[in-house]
Amino acid sequence: MSHLQRNFIARNDGFRCDVCGHIAPPASGTFRNHCPACLNSKHVDDNVPGDRGSTCGGVMMLIDVEGSDPDNLDLIHQCEHCGKISRNRMASDDNKELAIQKSLEKSTDWKRGPKRS
Ligand SMILES: [Zn+2]
Ligand SMILES: [Zn+2]
Repeated sequence: MSHLQRNFIARNDGFRCDVCGHIAPPASGTFRNHCPACLNSKHVDDNVPGDRGSTCGGVMMLIDVEGSDPDNLDLIHQCEHCGKISRNRMASDDNKELAIQKSLEKSTDWKRGPKRS
């Protein structure tokens, strides 16, 4: 294979979610880095989404949801293993109800910005 690209790699593979076991089909029009069913992710990217540069492999749990437009939410994930926080735009087939529920849970403090440790 000779089509290696290092700067931006749009992965579009289907995968099986480590958290809930959902089989996520390949995304259309975007690349997928979190489970559309439970919205959890996995720490496989280092700096660039899709680079798969991290060797951590920890589960990245959904810890917060940001945004005021339900059609345009950002999911905030934190790695349970190393504590890395990443932000991802929701995909069109993600579980929007779960994201909205999460944002309501967090409605008292989610607008203060990400927690810093
Ligand atoms: Zn899942
Ligand atoms: Zn990690």
